[in-house]
Amino acid sequence: MPKKTLTDIDLHHKRVLVRVDFNVPLEEKDGKMVVTDLTRIQETLPTLRALLAQQAKIILCSHLGRPKGKPCPKQTLAPVVPVLSELLGLPVQFSSQTVGDEAKAKALALQPGEVLLLENTRFEAGEEANDPALSRALAELAEVFVNDAFGSAHRAHSSTAGVADHLPAVCGLLMQKELAYLHDELEAPQRPFVVILGGAKVSDKIGVIQRLLEKADTVIIGGGMAYTFRKLVEGITLGKSLYKPEWEPIAQAALDKARERGVKLLIPVDAMITDAFDFDAKKLGNTRYTAVGEGIPEGWEGVDIGPESVKLFSAAIAEARTVIWNGPMGVFEIPTAAKGTFDIAEAVAANGSAKTIIGGGDSVKAVKKAKLGDKMTFISTGGGASLELLEGKELPGVACLQEK
Ligand code: AMP
Repeated sequence: MPKKTLTDIDLHHKRVLVRVDFNVPLEEKDGKMVVTDLTRIQETLPTLRALLAQQAKIILCSHLGRPKGKPCPKQTLAPVVPVLSELLGLPVQFSSQTVGDEAKAKALALQPGEVLLLENTRFEAGEEANDPALSRALAELAEVFVNDAFGSAHRAHSSTAGVADHLPAVCGLLMQKELAYLHDELEAPQRPFVVILGGAKVSDKIGVIQRLLEKADTVIIGGGMAYTFRKLVEGITLGKSLYKPEWEPIAQAALDKARERGVKLLIPVDAMITDAFDFDAKKLGNTRYTAVGEGIPEGWEGVDIGPESVKLFSAAIAEARTVIWNGPMGVFEIPTAAKGTFDIAEAVAANGSAKTIIGGGDSVKAVKKAKLGDKMTFISTGGGASLELLEGKELPGVACLQEK
């Protein structure tokens, strides 16, 4: 059932508690903490502007970092205040408490169109425990709850879920967009529907593989998890590439399901291999590409897909009308091993007739690094939350919102 959003509820002059994702990177400069990337703050502006258009009294809350239930000066949300104020063109007030007398007094004193930011929700021990007392204290500040923190929606915390037990609760505009692309769009995709999955571990992605095999026409598997599939299908040796025996039955189940459902499952046909790997120094030893059908020798490991795999995958991507991508094709953090991932990003960007959805985490980083972000239909802001949604799981921060 679709969830209620800002247009389904009366917000005029209401005190609205908005859970946002202001989990921004901070850096110390001249003894002061400053925000070094504004993306997450900018992402909340459509919701905040819609609320301001209703003359709502806006109370913002978010977590930042992992302060473990205690105040920690390096993880205060105070540095967000000047940034948000500048972006909105309005003064932004700050409460040095998340809940309590100061928060309450400031929330109750808000006038229509004013904005208050509460201190880091994770300074409260009750936040991650989803403590009903904290949920109630947050709810007492407001008359309506808006959840716009998609990236935290897979967690059942007080500020993401518990508070909705005590207030009418609806989606913000960012949350609504995430659900539209990562959920609704995939229920009835324009076909062919091509799913690209990469990343390190078969075990992390199996839920997504299994679910999307039920929806897709083609599933492309790259990254570290592809080697287990190559061993099963081609019987090649893997050297010291990423592989675990316990991944074999999982990969086999995916191969069987693809065959049963008539889904094309594409795996790499070549690889960039190296004889030395230093992730921290971002360096590889000797490298070369394997030929089609060639195994990976003892002591070497696969770190990227090769040019023949790029050709194979790009041809499928070019035919697609819907593409969803989660997970890099190789160790893209190391420039020498980033080509396969960037080539696939180019192939996705080049398909102007498909809806192209970048489903979170490292593929988002890769697309941004390749400067192709503005060529994609939608880029998710969630990591774990995107993955869980793609697996078909119900997210606590969404389940708690009112249905239309
Ligand atoms: P995930 O978080 O599961 O999407 O995995 C992303 C990580 O997988 C990135 O840090 C990549 O460096 C890593 N990765 C991708 N391909 C490989 C590979 N062939 N060998 C080792 N790690 C890989």
